[in-house]
Amino acid sequence: MARTEFPAKATHAQTRAHNASLVLRALYDLGPISRAAIARLTGLTRTSVGELVAELEQDGLAQEVGRGPSTGGKAPTLVSLIDDARHMVTLDLGERTFTAALLNLRGEIQRRATRNLDGADGDAAVALVHDLIDELLAGPHSPILGIGVGTPGIVDSEGTIRWAVNLSWTDLPLGKRLAAHYNLPTVVANDSRAAAFATFLFEGEDRPTNLIAIKVGHGIGAGLVLDGQLFDGDGFGAGEIGHIVIEPDGAPCHCGRFGCLETVASVPAILRRAFFQAAESGVRIPQSIEAIAAAAAAGDELALGVVRAAGRALGMAVASLTGALDVRRIVVLGSATVLGEPWFEAIRDEARRRTLATLARDTEVVNGGPADDAVLLGTCALLLTRELGLTVRR
Ligand SMILES: [Zn+2]
Repeated sequence: MARTEFPAKATHAQTRAHNASLVLRALYDLGPISRAAIARLTGLTRTSVGELVAELEQDGLAQEVGRGPSTGGKAPTLVSLIDDARHMVTLDLGERTFTAALLNLRGEIQRRATRNLDGADGDAAVALVHDLIDELLAGPHSPILGIGVGTPGIVDSEGTIRWAVNLSWTDLPLGKRLAAHYNLPTVVANDSRAAAFATFLFEGEDRPTNLIAIKVGHGIGAGLVLDGQLFDGDGFGAGEIGHIVIEPDGAPCHCGRFGCLETVASVPAILRRAFFQAAESGVRIPQSIEAIAAAAAAGDELALGVVRAAGRALGMAVASLTGALDVRRIVVLGSATVLGEPWFEAIRDEARRRTLATLARDTEVVNGGPADDAVLLGTCALLLTRELGLTVRR
């Protein structure tokens, strides 16, 4: 078999791109910083650093911002990344609302736009995606680094949505379509996975190596970060726990089966259960997840029963995940987190009951809150990593 020969020029270009990314990362993480300090940190020569910083200045990504403290000789000139040198458009395709944001290189949201789905699916839902991107691009913005989309369903590495049942999308090459239409780099990722990545990055200094984020709202999905990387699985379905069958004789699920986790533990499932139980007992029917949370917090037995049943079902899924992966940090986020401690207690109890004592002892199930922007920030982080080799921090 013929050996592939790489021309020396390509290798040189690759090295240069790698070095440029080292300099950019030093500016991003540690700037304002002197060229000499970048050289020390990266191991590059001062000449190389000087050239690479000059290129970044030409691209409008970096600028000189004055002088740092002198260490004997002449005070060094400091260079800084320009946070607004590039913007990104990211989208969170929620169950009832699509949200989009324009973010800068630090993941700071500059503007937002939303569209209600009103039952739109298929091509109509794709049109809403275009609508949102067009609206944000029509306003003032810096050069756009790329587009990031967080969507429900199974998404492959090409940005093709293999299956998003609520939106009636099957094998939709959304990533390729958007990239071609806007002529911009595009990342499409599963929403729970994007949220998990954001949660992981924003954990701060004591960031764990492994983390599972479970998003519980209209649907249920998990994202797995293993060894600091988002884990895909063999078919990009890692973390799709919403359609694990929990009650074989349970309610029909929109996926075509019965008793999936989503039919038991999602927000609509909790509302449904509360409705039927209240109707049966002849008491006032709670109208929202917040009303159920308030009733449970006030000690209402019916509400507590509903909240605990949903929490226990989720606890079973947590037990399977920790049993298989031995990940100690589980962050639960999404709109269902308003259910508060009674719900979290049930999740923890059930997870503990179903796992080995040694695993259970060290596993923490943490309240990540509603995390409304987690998907927007997660896709932004994926874009920054892919396009500039940067790791956004909070
Ligand atoms: Zn299902």
